[in-house]
Amino acid sequence: MALNITTLEEVLGMCICMTCPSWVNCGEKGGYCAAAIGKSTCIHEEKGCLCRSCPAFKNAGLKHTGFCTKGSENEQLKM
Ligand code: SF4
Ligand code: SF4
Repeated sequence: MALNITTLEEVLGMCICMTCPSWVNCGEKGGYCAAAIGKSTCIHEEKGCLCRSCPAFKNAGLKHTGFCTKGSENEQLKM
């Protein structure tokens, strides 16, 4: 992933997953696009994805979406 942002903390700070219709609150913090996090353990159904509006998405030049159910950017790049 062509990351301009460097730390997971920064990704988590920008993440807007908790405002997404797909969000399920099970104590996770979002940041599913990051390789260190990847798929959610509790979100199983995508009901819309806000990732394209997220600052981290633009900042990192991400191409994929739906990271919570499909896996991190790196995982999806391998598909
Ligand atoms: S791109 Fe999506 S998963 Fe990644 S930080 Fe933003 S809202 Fe969260
Ligand atoms: S990764 Fe996308 S679909 Fe999943 S919770 Fe975050 S914004 Fe919603």
